[in-house]
Amino acid sequence: MFRIGYGEDAHALAANRPLLIAGIRIVNSPMGVVAHSDGDVLLHALSDALLSAFALGDIGSYFPPSNPAYKNMDSQAILEHVLKLTDEKLSRLVNVAAVVTLDEVKLSPYRTDMQKKLATLLALPPDSVGITFKTSEGLAAGHIQARVVVLLSMR
Ligand SMILES: [Zn+2]
Repeated sequence: MFRIGYGEDAHALAANRPLLIAGIRIVNSPMGVVAHSDGDVLLHALSDALLSAFALGDIGSYFPPSNPAYKNMDSQAILEHVLKLTDEKLSRLVNVAAVVTLDEVKLSPYRTDMQKKLATLLALPPDSVGITFKTSEGLAAGHIQARVVVLLSMR
């Protein structure tokens, strides 16, 4: 028995803000994310993908942006919370496929670090964490987007 999950996320970009993707700081980006939390699009899309596999709603319902307690929240803590919920469903993550769309900086130098980081967070081998980088060809300049598919098998 398998379950599939899908999630996506987007944030606006602005100057003089940090840019975090999969928990990795993109140091050469002139732009960073405008967000209530730390704005990690990949971790947000991944968390929503995991929740969607079991129709558990979305991260906004667990960590509402209107609640000041979640301001500047570490997205790894969001993911940890979601992993606990999918674990309670007796599932095991098989693999992750992620797409990040960003126009401004080349992300490929960061791919290995992101893969390793996600693999550690998810207890998966790095070759079960696929990360694809795209640009929007200027169609979506000024923001960053992530889309994530997950496959889970039932224990
Ligand atoms: Zn987000």
